[in-house]
Amino acid sequence: MEYETVGDEEVPKIGLGTWRLQGETCRRTVETALELGYRHVDTAQAYDNERQVGRAIAESSVEREEVFLTTKIWPGHLDRDAIRRSAASSLAQLGVEQVDLLLIHWPNPLASTAEVMAGLEDCIDAGFARHIGVSNFSVEQLRTAQAAADAPIFTDQVQFHPYQPQRDLRAYCRAHDVLVTAYSPLAHGGVLHDDVLRELGVVYGKSPAQIALRWVVQQEGVVAIPKSTSERHLRENLEVFDFELTDEEMVRIERPSRLRTGASFLRGRFGV
Ligand code: NAP
Repeated sequence: MEYETVGDEEVPKIGLGTWRLQGETCRRTVETALELGYRHVDTAQAYDNERQVGRAIAESSVEREEVFLTTKIWPGHLDRDAIRRSAASSLAQLGVEQVDLLLIHWPNPLASTAEVMAGLEDCIDAGFARHIGVSNFSVEQLRTAQAAADAPIFTDQVQFHPYQPQRDLRAYCRAHDVLVTAYSPLAHGGVLHDDVLRELGVVYGKSPAQIALRWVVQQEGVVAIPKSTSERHLRENLEVFDFELTDEEMVRIERPSRLRTGASFLRGRFGV
């Protein structure tokens, strides 16, 4: 495993995404991932699986402190008290005293950014979270959040894959020491049949998914949280640190496309 250093924190470059993992499938997947060596797990209130994620961590032989655990507050919580109460309820679901990272899941135009950031900072003060951050924030929204908060914004978790390379946000985050957490790094599976990734996969003896993940984690300041329920895929997704793409290949892989991003989103959300 390789790590991204943020302040004095070492974040595993590959974590486990858990969106749409439910019940026993979720518990078993997190358990398998921890056995395989994953030490970074991403959940959210909206995924309705915090209880299963927490149970898998509690029952595993891996110490809680070894796992970098993230959860996300649903943005319907508009004031700082509601955010604090909601974080407390996430901790109860997870069965932990503290998460490593607490994010606001989406920007909410009806919410005051200052109030939301104050709520997240209250969670640090209460010992509920070690770090706070945002998700799905544009550069402008991130800048506003930073101005409103005393605590550093640890990460912006955004959709990030070869068709959505987030160039502006990546540059801004690099310049301001904000980690980019790449969600849907496989474009919900949309990269699996990509000709360029297939071709490079043959060169390196890797799958298209591994080439896509390598493209993400080879970028400084970026970590990825692919989701998989298959043990083979979970294992594969960790095996991306034994080869390196050339600069030309990195450029070739990166092809911003709203069409492909949209198609991948629909595939992920509706299975079309
Ligand atoms: P993803 O990780 O891009 O893709 C998941 C899909 O790829 C699944 O169908 C999975 O199927 C397949 N897959 C995984 N590894 C594979 C491999 N090695 N070979 C072939 N297929 C593979 O999609 P995602 O779940 O949307 O994103 C990942 C995580 O990001 C989420 O689980 C969630 O934690 C986070 N996320 C956050 C937000 C947000 O708003 N902050 C939004 C979306 C997602 P199998 O299960 O069969 O392997």
